[in-house]
Amino acid sequence: MSTQTLVAFDLTDHQRQIGALAAEIAHREIAPYVARWDRDHTFPRELYTKLSRAGLMGLLVPEEYGGARVDYVSYALAVEEIARVDAGTAVTFSVHSMICAAINRLGNAEQRKRYLPQLAAGDAIAGFALTEPDAGSDAANIRATAKRTGDGFVLNGRKQWCTNGSYSRVFMGMFRTGGPGAKGVSAFLVDNDTPGITVERVTEKLGIRTSNTCDLAFDGAIVPHAALLGAIGDGFGSAMTALQGGRIGIAAQACGILAACLDASVKFAKERIAFGKPIGSFEGISFKIAQMATDLDAARILTYRAAALCDAGKPFAVEGSKAKLFASTAARKHAAEAVQIHGGYGYTTEFPVERYYRDAKITEIYEGTSEIQQIIIARSLLGRLP
Ligand SMILES: Cc1cc2nc3c(=O)[nH]c(=O)nc-3n(C[C@H](O)[C@H](O)[C@H](O)COP(=O)(O)OP(=O)(O)OC[C@H]3O[C@@H](n4cnc5c(N)ncnc54)[C@H](O)[C@@H]3O)c2cc1C
Repeated sequence: MSTQTLVAFDLTDHQRQIGALAAEIAHREIAPYVARWDRDHTFPRELYTKLSRAGLMGLLVPEEYGGARVDYVSYALAVEEIARVDAGTAVTFSVHSMICAAINRLGNAEQRKRYLPQLAAGDAIAGFALTEPDAGSDAANIRATAKRTGDGFVLNGRKQWCTNGSYSRVFMGMFRTGGPGAKGVSAFLVDNDTPGITVERVTEKLGIRTSNTCDLAFDGAIVPHAALLGAIGDGFGSAMTALQGGRIGIAAQACGILAACLDASVKFAKERIAFGKPIGSFEGISFKIAQMATDLDAARILTYRAAALCDAGKPFAVEGSKAKLFASTAARKHAAEAVQIHGGYGYTTEFPVERYYRDAKITEIYEGTSEIQQIIIARSLLGRLP
């Protein structure tokens, strides 16, 4: 194993401040309302204007475009603190930030100038459209097409489960411009109000109900040549590059859910009396809490390590996969334990742990399932075996 992956570091004051800012806003603007939003499968659009006023929507946007351009460790702390209050808001924020970073890294000067200021200001939210009804993990097999026409491209096909899809003003969409496989895929920055694009279905979900997930239909939507992000045929690689950074966000989201489970479990274990004692005095409960706290530390360390490597300009794909795999598994497992610690109360909407339980599961699925993360990690050790 390379020693470069064994980093030891402490958080800087600035990184802590970004985390504290996100926590303060989440507690003020989200915590009082989240149970109702979750029940109603909704959120107010103005929430993101409030987040942008605090500078959060432009965390990964350079200052020259109106952002704060903090490092990925700070960004991970912000996602975690928001997810600690609401995992749905955290994924909206994380996907938006992932696209800001992709435009900054892969876009040309014109594209950066056009999109980054409005994304940092919260006037626009960004989305990501790769998955299709018949291509999820097997993303190189997408079928939606972009065919050259005049000085642009005509888009046809279906995209499924786009986070922020109904609200995003722009999304990064992958379409087939060439033959089969990854090399035939190109990426585009598509304005949502382009004629020929419709929201076909808003998805009802088990959890993260305060985030928007929808299917988009493309029926002869024409985009200009200027919408091409990167070169023709580079789209699959661009999507994978975006997802590498995105996985730091989802690992941080899982850390936030796990931290919320720990907060709730510690409180309940001290307050709930059974057999004349607080239930936290029983080893059957206190050991669950001890394991939860240990796995939260491990998940955080893996997540911050991946973020720190990214900040140092070093490879972090495998470390990001390890962070997402571990943090999401731990969040799903300990959310179930948090419900168990709460007994019957945990199964009711009187306590938030039932929401954490529903929210945690998705972290094992999107931006690469746990099995896909295992493939990435295994290949780094074994290579591509026949
Ligand atoms: C709420 C939500 C939000 C989402 N947001 C977005 C978004 O914003 N943009 C976007 O593009 N997509 C989004 N997705 C799609 C998400 O990324 C995919 O669901 C995910 O990548 C898995 O693809 P799939 O659902 O088609 O499952 P499949 O790929 O069909 O996989 C089904 C099962 O088979 C396993 N599997 C597949 N291939 C292998 C293999 N080679 N080896 C071992 N196991 C394998 C998988 O791990 C999984 O367990 C979202 C999904 C949801 C539910």
